[in-house]
Amino acid sequence: MPPRTKAESAPTWRILVPTALSDEGIAILNAEPSFAVEFRPGLNGSELLTALKDVDAVIIRSEHKLDAKTIAAAPRLRLVARAGVGVENVDLNACSGRGIVVLNTPAANSIAVAELTMAMMLALARKLIPADRSVKSGAWEKGKFGGHELLGKTLGLVGFGRIGREVAARAASFGMKVLAYDPYVPEAAAQAAGVTLCDLPEVMRVADVISLHLPLNEKTENLIDANMLGRMKKSALLINAARGGIVDEKALADAVRAGQIAGCAMDVYATEPPADRWFTNSDNVVVTPHLGASTAESQTKVAIEIAQAVCMALTQGIYASAVNLPVRDPSDLPRLQPYLQLAERLGLLLRALESGACEDLVLELGSQTASEARLVSAAILKGFLSAQTDEPITMVNAPTIAAERHMKTAIINSAQEQDQANQIAVTARFGRQNRRVVGIVESGKSLRLRQIDDFPLDVPPVGRALIFTNKDRPGVIGSVGALLGKAEINIGSWNLGRRQRGGDALGIVAIDDPVPKSILEQLTQLPNISRVVQVDWGS
Ligand code: NAD
Repeated sequence: MPPRTKAESAPTWRILVPTALSDEGIAILNAEPSFAVEFRPGLNGSELLTALKDVDAVIIRSEHKLDAKTIAAAPRLRLVARAGVGVENVDLNACSGRGIVVLNTPAANSIAVAELTMAMMLALARKLIPADRSVKSGAWEKGKFGGHELLGKTLGLVGFGRIGREVAARAASFGMKVLAYDPYVPEAAAQAAGVTLCDLPEVMRVADVISLHLPLNEKTENLIDANMLGRMKKSALLINAARGGIVDEKALADAVRAGQIAGCAMDVYATEPPADRWFTNSDNVVVTPHLGASTAESQTKVAIEIAQAVCMALTQGIYASAVNLPVRDPSDLPRLQPYLQLAERLGLLLRALESGACEDLVLELGSQTASEARLVSAAILKGFLSAQTDEPITMVNAPTIAAERHMKTAIINSAQEQDQANQIAVTARFGRQNRRVVGIVESGKSLRLRQIDDFPLDVPPVGRALIFTNKDRPGVIGSVGALLGKAEINIGSWNLGRRQRGGDALGIVAIDDPVPKSILEQLTQLPNISRVVQVDWGS
């Protein structure tokens, strides 16, 4: 079928772009027949509020603040797309609460920041900036600006994510040895990149250049404080092109002034522009005004990536790099889809098994990455919560709603054993009662329910089912079958899990039609049956 043209079909989605997005991005949006694009760079204040009233999606950069009030003024909004990385200017809770997906472009700037980091490293090592200033002032001070080579020196990375890896590769090409501190990166991933993982004090003690590439959060605020700076070699350099606030700037100023470290470079500051320009006369300090992402190539990449992400989100429901729905790489979605389906079905099952308040969920997951694990966790919560509220529950707002209900979620990696790699196990605590369900994705696509509490099973979690606990005695199957037959409810299959002959057992009966409440009550009255619940997993 040939693609639709604008003339053939009315646009379905209204997209507001109140910022100067590069032409390449606007062209992608305009080429989508189902989009009506309002490109109004510079729009702000009351005009922005008015324009937001009728739009489904908005593409912003850092200059626009989408606070709760602004979001409330946009009743149709379902997508906020940030062309860039930081989403400090977007009220994520307000978005998640409304089921609005927030997208960003986390990878588009990595090369630009990595190259700036290398530029800073070389500028500090070769005293480039004071030497340049000196020549321009008419001087010729050859003896004053002797520097150091990078070859053979040790680079210590704090944070080994996208940018950290790019910096490591570039530093290796200069002949540097690379160490990294990143508590969330597996040893094998670092080894594969030729990088040695160490703890933070060790990195600070050993490295000749320390470069920060981690997020700013409550755990990392002032991570590099007087104590950490005090561990550095006197000859060492510190580079921060990550986020202001990770370094205690006062402690850094003291360390540089006291000659406790040889110099530093900063692209980011706790407040921008920085209130205290303590470095004005320091030749061993290189400062730039948050230029990490400011290359022509990266701005084009950001515009293209965000436009493509908006197209995928609105036309296919695929959310690339959603901030409040943590899918990082859309190409992973087909592989993840069965796990998300299984996760949602396990959540539904748990809710069917117990109706009380749930304090916490412990998820034991196989070989997922941290962001995939968050996604699986969101799918479990979606399944769990959808049966207990009228609110539309999505994977975007499920974690927020769970937190509002004081449900805590913990994720444990259980991939130690090979046979657990494809498994999702969830234990839910309801007061003193724990319920546990375990499922598996077989051959990358087939969903199986493997365990309820400690009853082993092997059942596809599909369609409607009755789950009952009973004593393992002759006649139970017959009496349940007879009652369902009388109510004209057809049985598709029957599975029994038991720990030992004659002990407690758990049955799962696949049924074609819903069982009315009155029949459920009659089932519970049958001899040897203790409890019956119904679950509808869908097709
Ligand atoms: P990323 O998410 O790919 O990597 C961050 C890494 O930090 C992850 O591997 C994570 O495990 C690690 N980390 C998290 N907490 C940590 C901790 N307590 N200690 C050590 N490591 C920890 O992010 P990225 O794209 O590589 O970005 C890195 C930083 O660069 C971010 O702060 C980002 O905001 C910043 N950034 C700056 C600019 C700029 O203009 N200067 C542009 C883009 C990104």
